[in-house]
Amino acid sequence: MTFTFTPAPQIDLIQPSATLAIAALSNKLKAEGKNVISFAVGEPDKATPGHVGKAMSDFALLGQNKYASPAPPALADAIIGKFKRDDGLNFERTQVTAGVGGKELVFWGIGTSVGKDDEVVIPAPYWVSYPEIVNFFGGVPKIISPARHDLKITADELRAAITPQTRLFIFNQPSNPAGVVYTKGEVAALADVLREATKTNPRLVIISDDIYEKLVYTGSFHSLAAVAPDLLPRMLLINGLSKSHAFTGARFGYAAGAAPWIGAINKMLSQSSTHGPTIVQAGAIAALNGPEDFLVEWRADYVRRRDFVFAELQGVMPCATPGGAFYVFPDIRHYLGGEYKTDKDFVLALLERELVGCVHGSAFGMAGFMRISYATSDDNLREGLARIKKFCAGISR
Ligand code: PLP
Repeated sequence: MTFTFTPAPQIDLIQPSATLAIAALSNKLKAEGKNVISFAVGEPDKATPGHVGKAMSDFALLGQNKYASPAPPALADAIIGKFKRDDGLNFERTQVTAGVGGKELVFWGIGTSVGKDDEVVIPAPYWVSYPEIVNFFGGVPKIISPARHDLKITADELRAAITPQTRLFIFNQPSNPAGVVYTKGEVAALADVLREATKTNPRLVIISDDIYEKLVYTGSFHSLAAVAPDLLPRMLLINGLSKSHAFTGARFGYAAGAAPWIGAINKMLSQSSTHGPTIVQAGAIAALNGPEDFLVEWRADYVRRRDFVFAELQGVMPCATPGGAFYVFPDIRHYLGGEYKTDKDFVLALLERELVGCVHGSAFGMAGFMRISYATSDDNLREGLARIKKFCAGISR
């Protein structure tokens, strides 16, 4: 007798990652021998700094691969040191944890706070995973579509989105996919709205996803927690080494926040992954305690590439200048409505015809845009942008 597995109903509540899906299609075409240029994945094209690899190889040679905990004392202290140094924030060991990528902590940060029908306010364009995870836990994403050209949300837009049912606000800057970086004044204005909202909505909590904090090119990074430390008891700060240390495959993220929230996350980890690999924890300790001088060069590299992409797109598709991360998020609406009805049609045709992989804006909650990741070589950028321009020039409307 044949049997066809059907997943449990809750699995239908979540969609697979759109960015990974486009990347998979690019890889398939590559495997067929096609000269694909992928701007689809948010991953540094750099090598993990040597001191991090050395710590991992030293650890491997100890032959000690025992069960541990999400953040053993040396790792917890390294995380605590980072927040003290970078943001002037003080945490205790019970207020920090670590997991298998920032993604695992976003998953459980949402999973431990959001219940059925709780509203979660998320500014668009957003990282693809936030609303999917909210849906999975029975929450209701409430998306803010910013009116400003630079895709920043305003205090008024945030105020209008918060209702008595709002449980969580997710704030991410520099943002994926638009590289949005808020000024200190703008962060303070949003914090004022959140503070005010807590008076009528005492359950309100906040996730601040700061995973791109080391990749800021215009102005500087002002974390919500540092600007409004009074909100800390209701905040979860999520960070990681994927972007800052080119550590994507190692899967390491960390979080800090109120002890009860961290405790709830650790409880879920104890029944799921238990903790991240100890060899990765060894690398993370070295990364968090170690030098960051390599970032000066990386940032200079990214700024140069950002400026190149931005200049190449002038006159082709309008685009705000991103202040950080490694993405540009141009507006492609001019090319839609004729041959290509949607942004997804556009990116799929771009991939199939010109072999350039980009991700459609609707995956990030903003239809009519597309994301280009410039964390790739100069040669790829030059060739890929030339192909994009050729593709656009050939569109009849
Ligand atoms: N948050 C944002 C905004 C991201 O863009 C990503 C990765 O792309 C993550 C979190 C998770 O990264 P990781 O799981 O590799 O630490």
